[in-house]
Amino acid sequence: MHLFIRSDLARLAAYTPHPEAVELSIAMDRLDTNECPYDLPLELKHKLMGQYQTQIEANRYPDGGHGALKAAIAAYVAESVPNDSLLDAPWISVGNGSDELIRSLLIATCLGGEGSILVADPTFSMYAILAQTLGIPIVNIGRDDQFAMDLAAAQGAVARNQAAEPPVRVVFVVHPNSPTGNVLTLAEQDWLVSLPEDILVVIDEAYFEFSQTSLVSLLPQHPNWVILRTFSKAFRLAAHRIGYAIAHPDLIQVLEKVRLPYNLPAISQAAALLALNHRQSLLATLPEVWAERDRLYQNLKSYTQLRHWPSRANFLYIQSPERADLGAELKALGTSVREAGGGLRITVGTPTENDHTLARLHQILR
Ligand SMILES: *Cc1c(COP(=O)(O)O)cnc(C)c1O
Repeated sequence: MHLFIRSDLARLAAYTPHPEAVELSIAMDRLDTNECPYDLPLELKHKLMGQYQTQIEANRYPDGGHGALKAAIAAYVAESVPNDSLLDAPWISVGNGSDELIRSLLIATCLGGEGSILVADPTFSMYAILAQTLGIPIVNIGRDDQFAMDLAAAQGAVARNQAAEPPVRVVFVVHPNSPTGNVLTLAEQDWLVSLPEDILVVIDEAYFEFSQTSLVSLLPQHPNWVILRTFSKAFRLAAHRIGYAIAHPDLIQVLEKVRLPYNLPAISQAAALLALNHRQSLLATLPEVWAERDRLYQNLKSYTQLRHWPSRANFLYIQSPERADLGAELKALGTSVREAGGGLRITVGTPTENDHTLARLHQILR
């Protein structure tokens, strides 16, 4: 390794989101990344292409302030808040996927030895991966058998670390959690509420549309909280890389300082606006996801050799203690799933894909 590369980076492997992307054919059921199984409808793709042809100037930089998009996002978010008068564009920052926002939050808080982060495993891997690339220490705590965080350990870590160098500056939670599908319990929410204001609380609601549960109404009372959401899942725009943060305007201002000036391509901004304008039809797939999730879950429950948990997201989590290769066996039959936390995370796909999942499980486990 070159001597000019940080020594801690030399030890890191590059993240490969789809380890098997090259060999993955379209014919494979791609149930490993929790996307919506349905592409953007052709009619909307045509609209987007029309905008590209007539409105977007390819030679000009995109809107670096994201004004129109932030206003539209704020209006959408406000729909899920009882007293929505507070929530407007200054409460929103937009990122090149939530991944960029996670990195911006890390840069703004912990960089330069100023802080460490706390995560409860298993959870979304990107927090720890991005922290590592920035040389930020990670404090890991565990979860119980229903995947609620070990709050005694969490509190201990926070208390211990306030005296440590560097102290815990950020707590990351996912609501509902990935890969396990559980929403934050009231005890977990109380603990987040109890955290001092010198700790940033990041609540990742990437699966909000599927769970229909959000902590956004608590944001005004908590200037140290930020909620992350994305267009990559229910809104069917994973290819366009659009995520957003909702937080008190002071915190949003910091994110605006840290991000790259033109972080979101014009076509992606247009795609997000289009998706919001057509949210009723795009989100009309939700009842199917819920029904299919229940169907999968009821079927999975019939296998006594599997451990399974209910889910509030668009995926299910299972463990197969007696059959460690279940993920590889499913893949060999044509269903790609995500191995995480010693188990498998299976995205709810189309009804046909879910039929495949169940038939292939049956073939392996019967
Ligand atoms: C999928 C997912 C995201 C989305 O990330 P993007 O960068 O917006 O595509 C964020 N957080 C969690 C927990 C996820 O599962």
